[in-house]
Amino acid sequence: MSDVAARATAGFRQRYGAEPAGRWAAPGRVNLIGEHTDYNDGFVLPFALPLRTVVAAAVRDDGRWSVWSELDDEPVEFGPAEADEPGRVDGWAAYVAGVVWALRAAGHAVPGARLAIASDVPVGSGLSSSAAIEAAVLAALLDLGGLDLPAGRWPRLAQRAENDYVGAPTGIMDQSAVIRGRSGHALFLDCRTEAIEQIPFDLDAAGLAVLVIDSRAPHRHADGEYAARRKSCERAAKALGVAALRDVAAADLDAALARLDDSETRRRVRHVVTEDQRVLDTVELLRAGRVRDIGPLLTASHASMRDDFEITVPEIDTAVEAALAAGAYGARMTGGGFGGCVLALVDADAADAVAAAVAAAYADRGFTAPGTLTVRPAGGVARLD
Ligand code: ADP
Ligand code: MG
Repeated sequence: MSDVAARATAGFRQRYGAEPAGRWAAPGRVNLIGEHTDYNDGFVLPFALPLRTVVAAAVRDDGRWSVWSELDDEPVEFGPAEADEPGRVDGWAAYVAGVVWALRAAGHAVPGARLAIASDVPVGSGLSSSAAIEAAVLAALLDLGGLDLPAGRWPRLAQRAENDYVGAPTGIMDQSAVIRGRSGHALFLDCRTEAIEQIPFDLDAAGLAVLVIDSRAPHRHADGEYAARRKSCERAAKALGVAALRDVAAADLDAALARLDDSETRRRVRHVVTEDQRVLDTVELLRAGRVRDIGPLLTASHASMRDDFEITVPEIDTAVEAALAAGAYGARMTGGGFGGCVLALVDADAADAVAAAVAAAYADRGFTAPGTLTVRPAGGVARLD
């Protein structure tokens, strides 16, 4: 049993004095490319990580739910009344109550349960520990209840838990990646149609690795800036007479920009339109097995986020520059911005040297040391045993 599954199991035994009926695991995710394209009805290309959140669980006969997480000493208990009123359960347990709520709201008879949660997904770093906990809890409750729900419907349910119960406005990307992700593949997601396609992304075969660097940058006004970018994109789409910026083709970009009268809006539009095209170009290269060649697209994505969308911070730019100088094929910030993580495509045997170069650049600038980990595309949510 993996260490994280063993921790969930030990937590279950200790809290509830019984054996769990099973263990369910869901991964974190990282977005390879396609940033701020989701709410513009565009394209994203995330992949599931080897890091997992594990839920050990068993049915509880009185129709109530108790949850414990190793992040918190105190277990939380709630019943149908609390689950049926978004916001009644707050704090981290809202992610669990939200899944119960979303299932019940969709008409499913959710069994009462005891749950114990352990996780290797860093919390709040932009690697989607939130979608991981939602997906693992969803899988556990569906299985315990003998409920049969096609996998294609899981992401929406988990998203509803986060949007409508927890109250965090996220798109469908995170839940899709952690639920539908497949080992050795990235998930090409059309955020307008929600169509998905598995794109081969076999780093091992290419002798490559993705280095994820946690910038440890303090989040600076991220929520307000995010809302401002969204508004700016909506206004621009309206001015251009399209439903969303996804409808501006890369070939028509210059003509579209000429119709916008302030330079900030032009830069925001240019980021979104060119970023959608970079996702499509990345997908084409990966389909052709040209993994190394996506590097320049990653780096161009970063430049676009830094100069046009203006969502990077000094720690993030430092990590990207240091990774590139140390031989990375490409590097970019991943996630919404103003902190979070950077990813770099590197030769597998150069990953440690690139990580060391980033750490040295951080030390030079007096930044808090970054976290680094090497990842490969892993499978999505699954029952362990
Ligand atoms: P991210 O998804 O990038 O890690 P979020 O802010 O979206 O960051 O989600 C983090 C929140 O999800 C945590 O603050 C906590 O409420 C909840 N969460 C995630 N993983 C766990 C866990 N293992 N145990 C308890 N709560 C968790
Ligand atoms: Mg999240």
